Amino acid sequence: MKEDIVRIAKAIDFAARAHASQRRKGAAAEPYVNHLAEVALLVAEATQGADASLVIAAYLHDTIEDCKVPYETLVAEFGKDVADLVREVTDDKDLSKAERKRLQIEHARSASPRAKHLKLADKISNLNAILASPPADWRAGRKREYFEWAAKVVAGCRGVNPWLEARFDAAYARRAELG
Ligand code: ZN
Repeated sequence: MKEDIVRIAKAIDFAARAHASQRRKGAAAEPYVNHLAEVALLVAEATQGADASLVIAAYLHDTIEDCKVPYETLVAEFGKDVADLVREVTDDKDLSKAERKRLQIEHARSASPRAKHLKLADKISNLNAILASPPADWRAGRKREYFEWAAKVVAGCRGVNPWLEARFDAAYARRAELG
């Protein structure tokens, strides 16, 4: 328990440093760490604090994809369990954006239950961000497209956590507000 508090504090520090110069795409340009904090809180609440490594992986979930942090660094700093979880939700940036999006839908179904928690929380955070502060250059059509794609990814993640599913469905239900 005490070790978990130190590991979580370390993950927050690591993520804040790694993403220090990064902002959310929305017009409000929130610090990227806001997204990580939201995803971590969602999985922490969804699992009622039962899985510290899942919360740690939530803080770190974009470090390989966005910050090019090597998988080996995550293994050294946070252990193989956390590093594997982060890798499992990392897109291969060598592929085209369209291919990455297609693969997320395809891979969701066979993802581990913990990775499904992360994906659900990530998509909830992203839909809420688009509703609250959409990117200035995104027309309604692009926002709607994102919602529809996220729903397809989430379709493969259902069955692990009804609370997260309900949060996703509530955000998705607001798509009429996108214009
Ligand atoms: Zn994310």
